[in-house]
Amino acid sequence: MRIDLHIHSTASDGTLSPSEILTLAQQLDIAAISITDHDTLKGSKDALSCGIPPSVKFLPGVEISADPPPAFNCSGSFHILGYAVDIHNSELNHTLSMLRDSRENRNPRILKLLSGMGIEIEMEEVLNLAGKSQIGRPHIAQLMVKKGYARSIDAAFDEYLGNGRPAYVNRFRFECEQTITAVLNAGGIPVLAHPFLLNIKENEVLENLIAVLAEMGLRGIEVYYPEHTKDLMAYYTRLARRHDLLITGGTDFHGDIKPEIKMGSGKGDLFIPYALYENLISSL
Ligand code: AMP
Ligand code: ZN
Ligand code: FE
Ligand code: FE
Repeated sequence: MRIDLHIHSTASDGTLSPSEILTLAQQLDIAAISITDHDTLKGSKDALSCGIPPSVKFLPGVEISADPPPAFNCSGSFHILGYAVDIHNSELNHTLSMLRDSRENRNPRILKLLSGMGIEIEMEEVLNLAGKSQIGRPHIAQLMVKKGYARSIDAAFDEYLGNGRPAYVNRFRFECEQTITAVLNAGGIPVLAHPFLLNIKENEVLENLIAVLAEMGLRGIEVYYPEHTKDLMAYYTRLARRHDLLITGGTDFHGDIKPEIKMGSGKGDLFIPYALYENLISSL
């Protein structure tokens, strides 16, 4: 039995609604899922309120953007997954709403930078494309492709929108310790998402980072992930064991906005065992 504990819905920048995700998980025979939208619990809340099919186990989840500890200025994506949180916890909901505000402030600034480079995208176009979703850079990237300014979404990130690129706009985030604490206080399990995407080149630096995060209360590492090679997964597994951390995994499914990633199997060959879900649940 396979699981997928990293899925985005239309509550952030995915293209399937929570109810469509539940239906697809059922069709694909995925035994357990978590909807982990960026900085919002809305995807998980909506899934719970539309009813979870009996054949799918569901963990409420969220993926929170955070600042790495001050000594580690990594250029990649520093994301903390929060599993099995109390979706009504007021501290966590407040933290997330502040992060969503910082996202909204960022979008017009990105468009302004792009405009300065001759790339004309109106906020209205982004709003139309995103519909009810929370606007993220993938929506802006999608429009850049559609209007012929970039070859692909990846190219739009590599050339313009990614960290350190000319249309990158930083935004407010909480420090990781506060983020980890907010998840713990909401009764959840904080997990470091996709360590490969942190973009840390030296193993020693990553190992120090994991040690610092574990000290702050981190409970797990996302070991299974489409971008992780077999060797990387083996290495992250050893790191997790060394620090007594749980092992999790997910595909980071986003629907059509990342068409190469399939729910439950990533690029086709990812198998995330059900035992990881059971270990997570029994550690609660
Ligand atoms: P945002 O929410 O605006 O910070 O954008 C985050 C989203 O952008 C996530 O869905 C990432 O998967 C996606 N993303 C971040 N970096 C890249 C990249 N280099 N290429 C493609 N997508 C990316
Ligand atoms: Zn996303
Ligand atoms: Fe992420
Ligand atoms: Fe994600």
